[in-house]
Amino acid sequence: MDGMSEAAGESFWAATATGHAPTERLEGHLDTDIAVIGGGVTGLCAALHLAEAGREVVVIDAEAPGWGASGRAGGEVLPGLKIDPETMVSRFGEMEGERLAEWAGGITDLVFSLVERHGIDCHARRTGWVQAAYTKGEMKTLEARCRQWQARGAPVKLLDREETARCLGTPPELYLGAWLDGRGGAIHPLDYTLGLAAAAARHGARLFRKAPARTLTHEGSAWRITTDNGGSIKVRHVVVATNAYTGDLVPGLSRSIVPMRASQAVSAPLDAAQREAILPAGHVASDRRRVLISFRLSHDGRLILGGPGGTGQAKGEALFAKASETAVELFGAAGEGVRWAYGWSGQIALTRDFLPHLHEPETGLHVALGYNGRGLALASALGKEVADRIAGGSPEALAFPVSRLKPIPLHAASEPALAVGQRVMGLLDQMERRLGI
Ligand SMILES: Cc1cc2nc3c(=O)[nH]c(=O)nc-3n(C[C@H](O)[C@H](O)[C@H](O)COP(=O)(O)OP(=O)(O)OC[C@H]3O[C@@H](n4cnc5c(N)ncnc54)[C@H](O)[C@@H]3O)c2cc1C
Repeated sequence: MDGMSEAAGESFWAATATGHAPTERLEGHLDTDIAVIGGGVTGLCAALHLAEAGREVVVIDAEAPGWGASGRAGGEVLPGLKIDPETMVSRFGEMEGERLAEWAGGITDLVFSLVERHGIDCHARRTGWVQAAYTKGEMKTLEARCRQWQARGAPVKLLDREETARCLGTPPELYLGAWLDGRGGAIHPLDYTLGLAAAAARHGARLFRKAPARTLTHEGSAWRITTDNGGSIKVRHVVVATNAYTGDLVPGLSRSIVPMRASQAVSAPLDAAQREAILPAGHVASDRRRVLISFRLSHDGRLILGGPGGTGQAKGEALFAKASETAVELFGAAGEGVRWAYGWSGQIALTRDFLPHLHEPETGLHVALGYNGRGLALASALGKEVADRIAGGSPEALAFPVSRLKPIPLHAASEPALAVGQRVMGLLDQMERRLGI
């Protein structure tokens, strides 16, 4: 668990969170129905829905709820999967593919409805998401994406070069165009996560901090989890929701994903002129580069930059230097005066098929992970899928398919390969743009 040593306290979210998750310390033995390992959005959404359904559920986190990626994210609430509806249909068949597309199109609705239903104070705004194209090839992909979602009734439209520049505040020569997806928006991710935790607790879930699951073993038809200081829990169902921080609890699981560090930078509040020039319409945005950049404004008018392309995997001054370079690329003169106030990083989990994964390696053992850096809405929705399954739904009744856990061949080589791959991807982005492909 490499990421466990990171400091979470430097994040803008940690500095401004107002939510509170009522946690306890686990001492001695507990005998209950369901244990969720991992207090991020996946685990807490599962716990909340199970507790609402009247089930006895406990959540244990090695650190605290929101400590992982969920409390460190950029806060962009994005619909869909990394694959488009027609690819879903070709991969899963007409009926299953369309059902999956409908589900994936609705995952942001789930986030905003949970916020409303549970009164979660997390600066939730349905701003719309602009995804911009850097090359001709990317623009073609966005046109196809837009057409496919329009055919399914989604509130999406294409923006030409000038409209994109006006909407984002970027120079017209930067992006060829974009699509605007009205389903997307923004949240304070740590307050959202803490809000889910508090709502789960209000419905009877118990939350334990500093309770790392060390072993997971069978005990008759039940499961036994041991933690530090002699703590242990006996349960019928276990939900493993540790995403990129996954260790060796479930054989092969940590080898089914590749963890990657992603950084975020948040500026000091923008001045009036910057505020007029940078993201004037207030959308959340990202581009389609292989090494993508994400950018949005915070609730108090700061620029939030993220993604390996925007901030790299850098730390400290190097992170701010990279952020400054990106701000100028994105916003020209307006980006020059941006001053940086917060920088931090967290781990995302990549998968080989670019899809998240839902596994049930054994009876009573449920796993959801692998959001490829786009998990706030997806993790909410998969957490709910896991809860529906435990509450009695058959695997066939789920909108998201349960798949076999498959470790990635030559996994040990994938992390170093990723570092080299990123540099190559960045060069490819530049080359395709220069060649006009
Ligand atoms: C810098 C960054 C920016 C991002 N930006 C966005 C964005 O703008 N929009 C978006 O949609 N997604 C974004 N993501 C991705 C998104 O944050 C994640 O996909 C999502 O939060 C994953 O949630 P999770 O609950 O599965 O995992 P996490 O939130 O990572 O939670 C896993 C938890 O498991 C705990 N844990 C691990 N091992 C154990 C153990 N053995 N016992 C007990 N607990 C354990 C950890 O302490 C951690 O709290 C970003 C991610 C990062 C890192």
